[in-house]
Amino acid sequence: MKFETKLIRVGEEPNITEGSGDVVIPIHLSSTFARKEVDKPTRGYEYSRSGNPTRDALEKRLAALENAKYGLAFSTGLAAETTLCLSLLKPNDHVIVSDDVYGGCRRLFENLFKKQLGVKVTYVDARKIDVVEAAIENATKLIWLETPTNPLMKLCDIKVIAEIARQKKIITVVDNTFMSPYFQNPLDLGADIVMHSTTKYLNGHSDSLGGALMLSDDSLFERLKFNQNAIGAILSPFDSYLLMRGIKTLAVRMDRHQSNAKQVASFLSKHEKIQKVNYPGLESHPQYSLAKKQMRGCSGTFSFELKGDITNAKAFLRNLKELSVAESLGGVESLIEHPALMTHASIPQEEREKIGISDSLIRISVGIEHVDDILKDIEQALWKS
Ligand SMILES: *Cc1c(COP(=O)(O)O)cnc(C)c1O
Repeated sequence: MKFETKLIRVGEEPNITEGSGDVVIPIHLSSTFARKEVDKPTRGYEYSRSGNPTRDALEKRLAALENAKYGLAFSTGLAAETTLCLSLLKPNDHVIVSDDVYGGCRRLFENLFKKQLGVKVTYVDARKIDVVEAAIENATKLIWLETPTNPLMKLCDIKVIAEIARQKKIITVVDNTFMSPYFQNPLDLGADIVMHSTTKYLNGHSDSLGGALMLSDDSLFERLKFNQNAIGAILSPFDSYLLMRGIKTLAVRMDRHQSNAKQVASFLSKHEKIQKVNYPGLESHPQYSLAKKQMRGCSGTFSFELKGDITNAKAFLRNLKELSVAESLGGVESLIEHPALMTHASIPQEEREKIGISDSLIRISVGIEHVDDILKDIEQALWKS
């Protein structure tokens, strides 16, 4: 089955022989399920935290999109990440993390895993293979990659890093939120687990939070499935339904996100008020060839730097008339934000500057409105910055 067909069909096959033949999966709200025999659940369902028919349908679809055997759905992206890390890490284990990962991911590693649970964490510039390799210790259990990174759009070579990790029996996880399964499939490149904040492109409508893990290894799956229930941070039946619905249009949305983003990025790269544009779809991106190699496209989110300082950046954002200044990304509407003051404010300034998140850096999630309207709004606000 082709990708576009999986988006619509997997997990939602109408049951005409036994069921009512619904074309759309019903929202199974029941918290518990009755059984005929006391010692065995009749239809496999006992209690909705352990398994729910709507969530099961979604998990099947999620797995199919990343060419994985298994999918697991959680209440948020960070809930997926927490369950994964609590399942695989213990005190004194070591984790390697790309240095400009999602702010909330860094906060989780710093405050919970490092300070409270005694896990050692090293942040690396994962663009450099030798730096990643040099960071490996005997206690290294996990390499956590995000590519492209947020917000600087740095790429790392999933295939090469996963191969090094495999030889040392280290698990490679890739946060694939920015690309969505439409543009990049980390498992096909050798990663062990893919993570998504489904809140972003997968759901695509800014109306539901969720997280997902996709993988093919049986024993890893058993541990994660056990802890999905034991920890309990599962996705609700209603959000599972919303996500099933949102996913159906992923391919058409991503094509439009990408074509709009390309036009906005190329417009900005020629504008006199702009210092720099970080978009892997532009030939000027230092890792353009790696982007061509491991991605099928470049999605709709990127960052750029204005000339000037924080005053100019704030004036630009204040003067936008149509685009919403808001955190998050991947919805049909364009969203724009200031990482240093918003999404990445929890990273200490010194660290931020070291990574390259300056005070004039702006991140944009280009929506699927008509591109002329997006460009017009940006243009008029730039002249007032
Ligand atoms: C939003 C996001 C997360 C966290 O997901 P939530 O659903 O907000 O918990 C993790 N990684 C990336 C890249 C994100 O953009």
